[in-house]
Amino acid sequence: MHCPVCNHSDSRVIDSRLSPDGTFVRRRRECDHCEYRFSTLEEVELLDVTVVKRDGHREAYAREKLERGLKKALEKRSYTDADFRSLVHAIERDIQRRKTSELRSSDVGEMVMNRLKFFDKVAYIRFASVYRSFEDVKTFQDELAGLLRAPRKTTAHVERRMKRKKKEKKKKK
Ligand SMILES: [Zn+2]
Repeated sequence: MHCPVCNHSDSRVIDSRLSPDGTFVRRRRECDHCEYRFSTLEEVELLDVTVVKRDGHREAYAREKLERGLKKALEKRSYTDADFRSLVHAIERDIQRRKTSELRSSDVGEMVMNRLKFFDKVAYIRFASVYRSFEDVKTFQDELAGLLRAPRKTTAHVERRMKRKKKEKKKKK
């Protein structure tokens, strides 16, 4: 870590603090040469997680791969870089919470879908249709219909109840 003032290459870490969500480390540093103090924000990498693929093939977890998959699902959707970063971090937090060194790729896929569902419904559907091997087209259509129907159903239900209440009020008068 080069000093921002004198460009000296060695600095001493005075203090290290993990962000509340466990995805960043903030380090206070002091330059060995000019004693200038500065802080750095370093991303915590999930180094020790192995992902086991459907065919049994194993590979180390890689953030870039997750990001690539998400970006593909989010193609032409609108979102900010900050939103995207917090989505990636939320998924990595879910991975960390499992407290395991080995995960099936399908487990990771489920974690991604759980987060994407609330992030962007269209991206969720795209991701799910590729990632989850839907038993058949019907299962996928049901999932899609349920997802699109859910909020409207609630509104209709509330509206009906309100109408009923209005009628009851009129009757009382
Ligand atoms: Zn310096």
